[in-house]
Parts: sequence; structure tokens; C-alpha cells
Amino acid sequence: MLCWICGNTAGTGEHKLKASDMRSEFGSVSQKNPLYYNSKLHKNVRINSIKKSSIIKSNALICENCNTSRTSQDDRAWEAMSEYLRSGRVCLKRGSTINLQKVFPGKTKSRMLNVHLYFVKQFGCVIKEFGIPIEINNFSDAILNRTPHPKVFISFGASNGILTGSTDVEIASLNGKCAFATWFYVVGNVAINIMYSNENLKRQGLINSWHPSTVTKQIKLATYI
Ligand SMILES: [Zn+2]
Repeated sequence: MLCWICGNTAGTGEHKLKASDMRSEFGSVSQKNPLYYNSKLHKNVRINSIKKSSIIKSNALICENCNTSRTSQDDRAWEAMSEYLRSGRVCLKRGSTINLQKVFPGKTKSRMLNVHLYFVKQFGCVIKEFGIPIEINNFSDAILNRTPHPKVFISFGASNGILTGSTDVEIASLNGKCAFATWFYVVGNVAINIMYSNENLKRQGLINSWHPSTVTKQIKLATYI
């Protein structure tokens, strides 16, 4: 299989939920302290290792270079933001704000582009794995060129803390094309809503959403239950 990002020979699957997010929620996972994975297709699949288990990795393979050096700064930016959001320094309630200057002092714009590209990578893996009818080339171009995907928006919010994982992607089509797609990436009581919008209509979900083109240092939180 070829890497969906750069076209080279691929051999690795991206963690569906970042390994650091899983470790911070579940602690160390081992044969003595296993984790159980559930989805529509899989029930109670035992996980003995976050690093090695294949069930928690995407089937959409990418190459070693894209999985490590090309996107490592994006991974690190999300890791830092994820830690910040769950550290108690943000009141996780609808209408609360995240002050991005406190998350990434002096580097707000570049680090938030990294966060955006982290979710562009995650979204691309989901599109590829499940054959979702959204043009994948715009996702790989964004990562290769280090530029924002113009149609991918993110909102940040609070969850009820019950689920850690990602949801299915819900799609709304118009004239046979995907007009809007939405899914959630959830770590404990923090939820990220990742959206694709191929239209100019003001979707409810896009209110308070964030995009790298948005000139703001404050992001308003939503509530997802
Ligand atoms: Zn690659």
C-alpha cells in the first residue's frame, strides 16, 4: 500500500487516538493492566500495549517519514494543547474561552497551524480507511505544503468524560457530493469536533469553530454531551 500523504511505500498506521492521549487517560497499559476496545464492529478487544496494538491504529497506512519527521511537530503541538485543556487551567464549560497565548506563548499562529494539521492527518486517515467520499488530495497537499486545509474546521469543547475515542463520521450530501462531514475526537472530558464543510451555508456546527485563517487568540468552548 502507498502512503496517502506522499505516495511512497507505506508501512505504518497512525494511532486513531494519539498514544499520549491514551496514556494520560488510562495510565500504563500492559498484559497485567489491559485495556478493552469497543466499536460497532469490535467488542471488548483486549489491548496489552498502546504502542503495538493494531486495533487502535488506522488501516490507512502512511510511510515512516510521514508518520515521524514530517508530522512530528503537529503531533507535539496537539499533545501540548491536549495536556493544557485537561490540566484544569481551562473551565470546561460552554462559553468559556481558551486563551491561545497561554497555550502557546509567543507561537500561537504556528502552533495552532500544527494542531490544525494534526487533525487534518487524522481526518485523512479516516477518509482513506472508510472510503468517505471527500477529496483526499486536499488533505495530503495541506500536510505536504504546511498550509491550512480551507474546508476543515475544528471546535473545542467539553464532554461528559464517559468516552475516550473517536466517533464515526456523519455525512450530509448534496447533489451526490459530500457537503458536510462531522466527527469527534474525545479524550476524557475534552472533545474536539472536526468538520469538513464544502459549502458556504452557515452550519450550526460551524458556529464557534476555529480555522487557521481566523484571526483570534481566544476560542470559545462548546458543550457536547
Ligand atoms: Zn508518506
